[in-house]
Amino acid sequence: SLDETGIWTDGIEGVEVPGYDRGAVGRGIVHIGVGGFHRAHLAMYVDALLASGGAPEWGICGVGVLAADDRMRDVLAAQDGLYTLVLKEADGTLTPRVVGSLVDYLYAPDDPEAVIERIAHPDTRIVSLTITEGGYAIDQKTGEFDPDFPGIRADLDAMAAGSAPTGAFGLVVEALARRRERGTGPLTIMSCDNMQGNGDVARRVFTGVAQLRDADLGAWVAESITFPNSMVDRITPATADTDREALAERFGLRDGWPVVCEPFTQWVLEDHFAAGRPEFERVGVQVVDDVVPYEFMKLRLLNATHQALGYLGYLAGHRYVHQVAQDPTFASFLRGYMDDEATPTLRPVPGIDLDAYKDTLLERFANPGVADTLMRINYGSSDRISIFLLPVVREQLAAGGPVERAAAVVAGWCRYAEGADEQGREITQQDRLAEEMTALARAERDTPGSFLSHRGVFGDLGSDERFAGAFRSALESLWSRGAAATVADLA
Ligand code: NAD
Repeated sequence: SLDETGIWTDGIEGVEVPGYDRGAVGRGIVHIGVGGFHRAHLAMYVDALLASGGAPEWGICGVGVLAADDRMRDVLAAQDGLYTLVLKEADGTLTPRVVGSLVDYLYAPDDPEAVIERIAHPDTRIVSLTITEGGYAIDQKTGEFDPDFPGIRADLDAMAAGSAPTGAFGLVVEALARRRERGTGPLTIMSCDNMQGNGDVARRVFTGVAQLRDADLGAWVAESITFPNSMVDRITPATADTDREALAERFGLRDGWPVVCEPFTQWVLEDHFAAGRPEFERVGVQVVDDVVPYEFMKLRLLNATHQALGYLGYLAGHRYVHQVAQDPTFASFLRGYMDDEATPTLRPVPGIDLDAYKDTLLERFANPGVADTLMRINYGSSDRISIFLLPVVREQLAAGGPVERAAAVVAGWCRYAEGADEQGREITQQDRLAEEMTALARAERDTPGSFLSHRGVFGDLGSDERFAGAFRSALESLWSRGAAATVADLA
């Protein structure tokens, strides 16, 4: 329980709780997209900083933008913003800790004006985001800001009419306009999504929206707001009912929405902040000048390998990441992709032993405690494949290097996108291009080239004979012999 100053007065055995005065914690950070990952990563780092006695002004005000965030609003309101973060070790040990850094939560659909004013408030110095890779208004073909992305025009119309926008970009841009008018000064916009150059992507979108709202505002945003790039890493699966039950049974702790994750965590961050930042390096964050080599390593080894095991593993009958990673044939296939196809495209990564990093990755994937589902990994396929895997393919094609395993992964996605597994059971597609990709995947049977003809996803890769040939031959093998045999050929 908490005393009137917000300090925890009696403990729960085996559970660390916030020992600091939450009532005295400010709201220097506004975070949009309070899902599992934010609560396992940034909110955890800020909690660790607060627990070490540092930076009381850097507490977090969470913001939910989507209608579906009403559940998070209700759970956090009932728990005074507290929630449990549970680390899951490979041997089944659970290490729970109550996180106290989320000191406020605003739900934009109820009151967009409150969100705008919170971001415009002088105390707010960082706006951070985890709104998923596909949430950024970017044209996948050009990498540029896309004003026709869903919701952007509606937000611009709302702002022009003097009413409140409702999307993440509109809310922030409206708040930036007010900061500029009021002389409040700039802040930092910090994307924590899994994208190469996540800060650069955020810069293009926020500057683009600001420019369309008003050219002077656009110029001010381009000049004054900073957008640090970062590499973020901690596998955080969706919370299952069994996680809630385990917490209640083993620790007597009832939490409406705990977060579970692996013990490993990493955050490499560019030091590019317009209005100050917490001393993140005190809690293990690597603050560097150039995050690019770390991003390449993470996106092309971890995220792309997740794609490599997601579709083919599912087709072979697995449902969890650890099941695939523990299958020796798959493990060898994955390591082959990492060593032969991904690694040659990386730059030297200061302070990292790549072989050890890859070993650790396969161990992390094999952790049964994490119980990460292939469905989660396969969510948003078209965005993830194009962001994580296809850059490797393009570089290898340009260099004359191997692409067979990556082509088999794309073939696995095509076979998966047909909508039924090898036993004929339906596969629910969770992808914003699901309908189109399923139609193209089915057309591929009679019309070779159909699937790769989607230029929004593949650009001109479909016309590369070497890649298209490897894709088609892997796909024919998937049709005739199935995923296990296809993977074994490439292991
Ligand atoms: P989640 O489903 O638990 O939460 C997603 C959050 O994003 C929700 O609050 C949702 O409302 C919000 N959101 C989604 N689309 C949005 C939009 N268009 N506008 C505003 N808000 C939007 O997912 P998660 O596990 O928290 O992952 C979120 C992102 O974090 C990932 O897409 C990835 O970029 C990054 N990430 C996740 C992990 C992981 O292991 N889960 C690891 C590293 C990075």
